[in-house]
Amino acid sequence: MAVPVRATIVGGGIAGLTTGVALKRIGYQVRVIEKRKALDTLPQGLTLQPAAVKALDRVSPQLKESVMKMGQTSGDISLFSSLRNSAVGKLRQSEIVDQYGAPFITVPRQEFYQALVSELGSENIVLGKQFKEYFEDVKQGTCRAVCIGGTDYTSDIIIGAEGAYSLVSEMIPCTSLDRLQSAPFRLPLLFPLLPPLLSFL
Ligand SMILES: Cc1cc2nc3c(=O)[nH]c(=O)nc-3n(C[C@H](O)[C@H](O)[C@H](O)COP(=O)(O)OP(=O)(O)OC[C@H]3O[C@@H](n4cnc5c(N)ncnc54)[C@H](O)[C@@H]3O)c2cc1C
Repeated sequence: MAVPVRATIVGGGIAGLTTGVALKRIGYQVRVIEKRKALDTLPQGLTLQPAAVKALDRVSPQLKESVMKMGQTSGDISLFSSLRNSAVGKLRQSEIVDQYGAPFITVPRQEFYQALVSELGSENIVLGKQFKEYFEDVKQGTCRAVCIGGTDYTSDIIIGAEGAYSLVSEMIPCTSLDRLQSAPFRLPLLFPLLPPLLSFL
């Protein structure tokens, strides 16, 4: 039997938990490290955009089913301009589904987290551990994530999902990102995004 790839995911937000579910489903051994002592418990709603709903379906059809059950699809969406202080357009839900393949869905944040945790398995989430730095062992092909307080976790890959200012991403050598940010690469990358963006406006 093949040895599963071990993945350490830093950050137990929506990105970290969803990535964990996706990797677990393809046979990875996943561990999510979250600095807080409990996962997000804010009693808020969270609106999932059509692309997110479609992505959830790819990650796990069961998860998408749960979201459809727990959530409410929004009605038509009015767009306002704060500069003009007036309505500038309307997105009709039926047209959104036709055009983007899924609706906007608003879910209770806590319930969504619970669905993610139950699919990932709470035994794969370590709470109360704050990632500090990681070290690569090039010979072994492994990396060691070290947390404040000294606990460390060794795995084959490490994924930074700890929000917009990810420490992990900052520490990853950026050779490929540098290339992506250089002008000859930037334009071809952006070009395919222009038509959908323009049609959305
Ligand atoms: C009030 C509000 C309402 C929002 N509403 C919506 C909405 O309706 N729809 C929508 O799509 N988006 C919404 N957003 C944005 C949404 O919250 C974010 O897009 C989403 O939470 C990002 O998820 P994430 O997993 O990338 O990051 P986060 O939710 O920030 O999760 C990162 C996790 O990493 C943990 N972490 C950070 N550093 C470390 C470390 N060193 N070691 C270990 N763990 C660490 C954090 O504690 C956190 O749990 C809203 C944001 C706010 C503030």
